[in-house]
Amino acid sequence: MPDTEFIDKVAFITGAGSGIGRATALAFAAAGATVVATDLDNETAAATADLIGQQGGRALGLACDVTHNDDIVAALNATIDTFGHLDIAFNNAGIEQPVAPLADISENDWDRLVAVNLKSVYLCMKHQIPLLLKAGGGSIVNTSSGAGVIGIRGQSAYTAVKHGVIGMTKSAALDYAATGIRINAICPGIIETPMMGRFSGGTPEGRERVIAQEPVGRMGRPEEIASAVQWLSSDLGAFTTGHALVIDGGQTVGL
Ligand code: NAD
Repeated sequence: MPDTEFIDKVAFITGAGSGIGRATALAFAAAGATVVATDLDNETAAATADLIGQQGGRALGLACDVTHNDDIVAALNATIDTFGHLDIAFNNAGIEQPVAPLADISENDWDRLVAVNLKSVYLCMKHQIPLLLKAGGGSIVNTSSGAGVIGIRGQSAYTAVKHGVIGMTKSAALDYAATGIRINAICPGIIETPMMGRFSGGTPEGRERVIAQEPVGRMGRPEEIASAVQWLSSDLGAFTTGHALVIDGGQTVGL
């Protein structure tokens, strides 16, 4: 029997052209949701929507640069024009920081990380919340990181913005707790995606170095993050709001 848990739900996902965003888009669609797959890269967003279509699901692929307010408004308008409502948002688009001690982080890199990984979450929620209020409630999940709950050498800017995502998530969750909108964050550990390939250098030694940080002895799979986003967005998570869910194979447990 097909999974119909999210039937009649419309899920809007940023950074859906790759990695965790694509896996989550596919997972929501497999569970019956209609998916709006957005990405900076128009082609990868369209490819995610095509994959969903090939699997019998319903999806729209859209270009959306989450650093541009107008792009976000246009993508959400297209969501409503096409599907009529919004129920679930996964604000996931993000970039990595070149490894460097704080004094060597360029102002450009700092500003870019704040814009893509932090301000974008504010902008997305700012425009999603009125739509969720109209729908009578819904779920927002924001992508933080293990770097949102610990310090990491060489990652001052990335850890700053990922800690910021959690603070914003908790406060916004309180703002809207009584309205039926739940707002949570996820904190993935080391997940095998193109981003992690770039971060590790893509070499066998680089892979070993990052895997060595994982008590379970392997990287996580994007699908293992998607399932957590789904749980938080489902009725099973109905009493969970303002939570930052760490899914990291134990990476941050023993530190
Ligand atoms: P990825 O690079 O595979 O995918 C990120 C996607 O975001 C890409 O498709 C990219 O085009 C898109 N993107 C980048 N800038 C954008 C912009 N300005 N507007 C819209 N889209 C943009 O990376 P991933 O590993 O899937 O990462 C997804 C999220 O998970 C990020 O927020 C990342 O910080 C976070 N995260 C990843 C890991 C990991 O180990 N991979 C761990 C913790 C947190």
